[in-house]
Amino acid sequence: MDSKFKSGFVALIGRPNVGKSTLMNHLIGQKIAITSRKPQTTRNQIRTVYTCDRGQIVFVDTPGIHKAKNKLGEYMVTAAESTVRDVDAVLWLVEPSTFVGSGEKHIAQLLQKSGVPVILVINKVDKVKKTEMPAIIDAYRKVGHFDEIIAASALHGQHLQDIIDALLQYLPYGPQFYDAETVTDQPTRQIAAEMIREKALRSLGEEIPHGIAVMIEKMKKRPKGDITDIEATIVCERESHKGIIIGKNGVKLKQIGSDAREEIERLLDGKVNLRLWVKVRKDWRDSDLYVKNYGYDTKDL
Ligand code: GDP
Ligand code: MG
Repeated sequence: MDSKFKSGFVALIGRPNVGKSTLMNHLIGQKIAITSRKPQTTRNQIRTVYTCDRGQIVFVDTPGIHKAKNKLGEYMVTAAESTVRDVDAVLWLVEPSTFVGSGEKHIAQLLQKSGVPVILVINKVDKVKKTEMPAIIDAYRKVGHFDEIIAASALHGQHLQDIIDALLQYLPYGPQFYDAETVTDQPTRQIAAEMIREKALRSLGEEIPHGIAVMIEKMKKRPKGDITDIEATIVCERESHKGIIIGKNGVKLKQIGSDAREEIERLLDGKVNLRLWVKVRKDWRDSDLYVKNYGYDTKDL
């Protein structure tokens, strides 16, 4: 192996909807084939591997940093903080806005304390005028120190090479951890659950950002043909949330199901038959038991 080969772990952080998955899809390619044979872990993190002849970047998708309001919130913060401690660099995606919220300021402080190189990506620059960019960059410069600030568009594939170049610059020289074909080390079940959760969250809006969990009850490929049957339950806290998720005449749930199915089909590179249910479990977020049951456990961090 070339002694100039670089490798390391990069925490990918940013609010829901900021474009993390879009960026990964662009960098890694749409066809995600699970080729890793590593033992399955229960970690609630998705690792995505980018390999080129100059190096290998292992992106660690954190469950999101935000201020803790309950047990699950604490888990998220612990997960994010411990992830940031364990990585070689942080890639932080933000919206192209001059308004930097208190959540963002909190993250900026946390990152600064961690001492790891931080690359700030101002994503969706296609949505703003070029002349607006300096003010946006300035707004972020005021809240923290960043090793690089890159304006990019994950959707249109603009300046993504700059992101890779910057990361390779900050990563140490090191070995190739995964073979070049590996793009993720997560069990497909967990990725599928996360994809469904994300679509359902989107339908709920921002006010209850982590108030749902998804359990995959069944995931099985049919012996003949190329169809995988998946049955999953979306667990939420309130009847009213259940109502929103299902929607009038089940329209919302159908939409969540078809959006999630499309994404899972890309992941599995085959047809998927997805059936979804919605259940209410009051205050599941505040119960240690549920936090464990639904796959979040600080012991794993
Ligand atoms: P995530 O929740 O951070 O993973 O966000 P996604 O990658 O799922 O993106 C959320 C939405 O933002 C999707 O509708 C994307 O098409 C859109 N999006 C992502 N990147 C860009 C971008 O660079 N420009 C624009 N205009 N939209 C984007
Ligand atoms: Mg995503």
